[in-house]
Amino acid sequence: MAVVRLKRGEERRLRSGHPWIYASEVEEVEGEVRPGEVVEIQNSARHFLGRGYFNPRSRIAVRRLTELDEPIDEAFFRRRLLAARAHRERFCPGETAMRLVFSEGDLLPGLIVDRYGEVLVLQILTLGMERWREVVVGLLVELFQPRSIYEKSDVPARRHEGLEPVRGLLWGEEPGEVVIEDGPLRFRVDVAAGQKTGYFLDQRLNRRLLEPLVRGGRVLDAFTYTGGFAVHAAFYGAREVWGWDVSAEAVDLARRNAALNGVASLCTFEVQNAFDGLRALAEQGPSFDVVILDPPAFAKAGREEALAGAVRGYKEINLRALKILRPGGFLVTASCSHHIAPELFLHIVEEAAADAHCRLRRVALTGQPPDHPVLLGVPETRYLTFAVFEVVERVHRRR
Ligand code: SAH
Repeated sequence: MAVVRLKRGEERRLRSGHPWIYASEVEEVEGEVRPGEVVEIQNSARHFLGRGYFNPRSRIAVRRLTELDEPIDEAFFRRRLLAARAHRERFCPGETAMRLVFSEGDLLPGLIVDRYGEVLVLQILTLGMERWREVVVGLLVELFQPRSIYEKSDVPARRHEGLEPVRGLLWGEEPGEVVIEDGPLRFRVDVAAGQKTGYFLDQRLNRRLLEPLVRGGRVLDAFTYTGGFAVHAAFYGAREVWGWDVSAEAVDLARRNAALNGVASLCTFEVQNAFDGLRALAEQGPSFDVVILDPPAFAKAGREEALAGAVRGYKEINLRALKILRPGGFLVTASCSHHIAPELFLHIVEEAAADAHCRLRRVALTGQPPDHPVLLGVPETRYLTFAVFEVVERVHRRR
């Protein structure tokens, strides 16, 4: 097996548990290795640091698969998948829709598998994982006995690995529209046409936090997608729910999801840009009891300008949401970009509150559910911040 040897002093990140080696940290590659193949990792003193897969075309030259002296073969992937399954059996008992494999969080970099009942949706994000596609699909069939395995590796990140986006059926029958259980509710998921793998599983425990907030209230879900939070709010006793999304397909499915759960008469879904909609409502003053902001990741990169733009975006929507909340109301707000750490996100909301002359009390601060495990020392695995604030006082200052 070929050896990737690190430059002196470049092993600190690996030692603290982070599995990536950047191309700039590699001193030399010893032996023959084709792109995507497994290599041994050594420090500059030739000490063994594990095994991982190599991609000379990527900025991330190696992703470590193991720190142990073990072969990377089918048995290795079976052990990893069994461990992932055991983790879900422990922490998500009785659930039928969840993330089964969360890439680095399950020590399987480059692999995502979501389960929607009997349908599995797979994403392969790296060349190294691409090499194990058949093995992984075979093991998923064996260990989970699905009706379908559908691939949705049509993500831009694959280009950094020199891979084309791909999607399509890998095993079994075409999944069609699947009905999943999310807590007490049911949702239609269009695996093939939907965003990401079809449904935002990562917010499912957070949606249940709406229950004590919404009873009898007027609720706005400004980035509703297929109605996840909106339909929960209606189910938990909101008087009136508004849901917006820029995607007409999402809005159509949101309406059907409200109907599926018997709350269609409480919900109004509209194709609407949340920035424009919030701005228009803000001019009319406070009229909502709960506003939910679950936008797409504004910070797609960690570079300074990208981050500054994202901070402005979060600040703007949170400020406008606060302006339409009645005293005693709740701001439910999230960020799903790992570049925005929880401290930064809270700071943004604090600034928005100061500008809106609102005194806020934090009543919840959470992140990802246990099927999206966060690996310590790997900030990329911690991406979701979710918080709820109560507007305890609103001050009207004369200018
Ligand atoms: N809250 C949803 C997930 C939201 S994902 C759930 O629980 O399932 C983010 C959504 O925001 C996507 O559906 C995307 O189409 C939508 N979106 C992106 N930009 C938007 C904008 N400016 N206004 C409204 N919706 C937007």
